[in-house]
Amino acid sequence: MANADASNVYHHLLSPSAQQQTSSARKSLTRATPSLSGFVILQAMSGKTADFEHHNVFFPENYDDEFDSVFGIGKKPSPVADPTIYICSPNDAKMTPAGNESWFMLINAPRHDPANGVDWSNSELTASYTNQILSTLSKRGVQTSERITWQQTITPAELEQNTLAPGGAIYGTSSNGMRSAFLRPENVTKIPNLYLVGGSSHPGGGLPLVGMSAEIVARHIGRA
Ligand SMILES: Cc1cc2nc3c(=O)[nH]c(=O)nc-3n(C[C@H](O)[C@H](O)[C@H](O)COP(=O)(O)OP(=O)(O)OC[C@H]3O[C@@H](n4cnc5c(N)ncnc54)[C@H](O)[C@@H]3O)c2cc1C
Repeated sequence: MANADASNVYHHLLSPSAQQQTSSARKSLTRATPSLSGFVILQAMSGKTADFEHHNVFFPENYDDEFDSVFGIGKKPSPVADPTIYICSPNDAKMTPAGNESWFMLINAPRHDPANGVDWSNSELTASYTNQILSTLSKRGVQTSERITWQQTITPAELEQNTLAPGGAIYGTSSNGMRSAFLRPENVTKIPNLYLVGGSSHPGGGLPLVGMSAEIVARHIGRA
């Protein structure tokens, strides 16, 4: 069973003869668009933010422009200038000292692609983009600068490094059409006893679908 990204399995982890047996799956993967990545800012914040919930989403003026930047539609992929900002601020005493907050901030981002897109290994870009996000948040009414007691970023390059997901793509291939929704890499492969499980295979990315993928494979191998 393989939980690694399906494109890594088909392109890098199979023997030459197994690659021949799976040429149609590899072709299909080559034609699919990889999904987007994410730029993460983790922050420890002193004090409490007024009117904050567990989940908080700050939308931009132009939502379409966000995805044009992420996927390079009509232009080269670039960090989103005015992005949607999602902040999870858990109301949980085990995660946050009393009277303070711990934030997980997620911003949609193009994949790490030094050759044709954004080189997220550039530390100056990481620093300036972090400042840009915090300044955007401040324009949307949430000031952070005097409250941050600790901060860490995770870039698409680091997501790639940590999980081996190509470019730090969060959801394997993108789910934006018939092909992506219904023609994702199948759980049962052409190689006997090789099953694909996880977000890059059927039925898709995100924890609920990853769990369904595990259930499908467990049934196939008689463990459900
Ligand atoms: C910042 C961020 C926020 C997210 N937020 C949400 C959310 O709110 N809700 C939601 O539902 N989903 C969310 N997701 C998506 C969700 O995390 C993924 O869809 C899910 O983790 C994918 O599970 P997986 O088992 O396929 O891959 P992973 O969780 O990446 O597990 C794959 C494992 O395989 C290992 N591996 C890879 N290649 C090899 C190899 N060759 N040899 C050995 N080991 C290997 C990796 O190191 C990794 O440990 C988020 C993802 C990110 C990055």
